[in-house]
Amino acid sequence: MSETSTPSAEELEVAAVRARTRLSFDLDVDVCVIGAGLAGLTVALECARLGASVAVLEGRQIGWNASGHQLGTVMPGFSLGLDDLIARVGLESARELWALSREGAEFVRGNAREELMPGISLSEGALEVSNVDAGDQLIRRLQMLAEDFETEVEGWQVDRVRQTLVTDRYFHGIYYPKAFQLDGRKYLFGLASAARRVGARIFEDTPVVSVDSSGIRKRIVTPSARLRAAHVVLAGNVHLGAPARRLWETLLPVWRYAAVTVPLGNRLDEVIGFKGSVSDSDGIDHFRIVEGNRLMWASPETTWAMRPQLFAGAIQRRIRTIFPKLGTVEITETWGGAVGQTVHGMPQIGQLRKGLWVASGFGRQGLNTSAMAGQLIARGILWGDERWRLFSPFELVYAGGASGRVAGFFVGLWGRGSSAAAGMLARQRERTRVQEGLREARIAEANRVAALRAPVRRPPPPGAPRPVRPQPPPAQPDRKEGEGG
Ligand SMILES: Cc1cc2nc3c(=O)[nH]c(=O)nc-3n(C[C@H](O)[C@H](O)[C@H](O)COP(=O)(O)OP(=O)(O)OC[C@H]3O[C@@H](n4cnc5c(N)ncnc54)[C@H](O)[C@@H]3O)c2cc1C
Repeated sequence: MSETSTPSAEELEVAAVRARTRLSFDLDVDVCVIGAGLAGLTVALECARLGASVAVLEGRQIGWNASGHQLGTVMPGFSLGLDDLIARVGLESARELWALSREGAEFVRGNAREELMPGISLSEGALEVSNVDAGDQLIRRLQMLAEDFETEVEGWQVDRVRQTLVTDRYFHGIYYPKAFQLDGRKYLFGLASAARRVGARIFEDTPVVSVDSSGIRKRIVTPSARLRAAHVVLAGNVHLGAPARRLWETLLPVWRYAAVTVPLGNRLDEVIGFKGSVSDSDGIDHFRIVEGNRLMWASPETTWAMRPQLFAGAIQRRIRTIFPKLGTVEITETWGGAVGQTVHGMPQIGQLRKGLWVASGFGRQGLNTSAMAGQLIARGILWGDERWRLFSPFELVYAGGASGRVAGFFVGLWGRGSSAAAGMLARQRERTRVQEGLREARIAEANRVAALRAPVRRPPPPGAPRPVRPQPPPAQPDRKEGEGG
């Protein structure tokens, strides 16, 4: 570590690796958190900040799964769309839930300060672009976000989107000036080190094999130690397994893969004139420029684990499809992680039975939602704050175990296929509109030229005899059948 008082983010990560300890002795704590991802570490940080003794048990290493491999975009909201959220819980509860998701994002911003997490490099603004021509819905959505959900947004018309992102794939856009992005990995290790600083103990290589949550003091068993705790927080996401099998089966694991390109020089600026994150409204692509002129891109998904390297070609093709001007770009690194998708699209946050809590199912949008979960659960445990009950309408719905994963794969394919088809139709409609516009312009021009060439008819001078028009021959009476001729 350097001589200076604030360690750099790399130093924090190295220190975290060095500080890696396995739990090999029995322990008694107020709160035991299972899982050291974004959710578990935020719960630990908040509980320790509020004065509880905390132990985090991580089966592998900090950030081993999705939390250590996300793209660092922090936006308000959930995986479930706003309209569906309102339909499910009504406008008032939807507003409260949305406000919590905004607070979650602001909590991340509050932690991601240079003095707390050096090198975190925060940048502002995110753009959500539409794959289909949904201009008619844009105004309604903007009004809803701004007026009902108090979120600062700006609507971008197709021209502005296409001046900023040189592709015909996207139509309208919604710009979120208060959304931001950060270095996701640095944030995660920053959280771990902040939690340690306030007294939380983090044990890695310590898988929890069983939890007995029946008594006042819960019993937690690991291969080499036992713990007792007044509260247990299940933050193991899709890898939780044996300690809470029924809970685990309510999550559909979805592996998402991402890559970063080599430096692309000026040609990147020619096609992407936006420094924040861009994501499409169907959740297919998510990208941003990093380190000045490299492109970081997340796209393909599977419902079983595969080597991320296998997806380098797919991401290359995706980039070329969206930005043909970039051609085939060279990929330097690929990675992936499994997110937990719930059947209803909302995270699982709350108390399952006295002293047994859950924080999982954050899907693709885990930074703001896991931060919100950490705050709600810590305050629920230590202050008796019951705001977590806003999530009660979203029960634990069985995601179908192994067969659900296969079905999820096909549903995912169908969803992506139908969004791709909708995008194709929208572009086709646009081409037709352009062609029709050109045709009409050609007809108008032809009419104009014809009008210019036509002999000019002047009105006759006053008193001049009017031209005699040829008269039609007098009408003959209709011939009837049988008449001569
Ligand atoms: C490629 C990619 C890009 C993403 N980009 C973004 C983004 O830009 N913005 C955003 O908001 N979200 C993003 N996400 C989503 C986000 O990463 C996740 O929603 C979030 O990380 C989930 O955090 P978690 O703590 O619930 O789960 P995890 O990260 O899976 O952490 C759970 C931990 O629990 C441990 N564990 C499980 N079972 C046990 C056990 N029995 N005993 C001990 N430990 C156990 C696991 O080992 C794991 O480390 C992205 C995800 C991916 C994959």
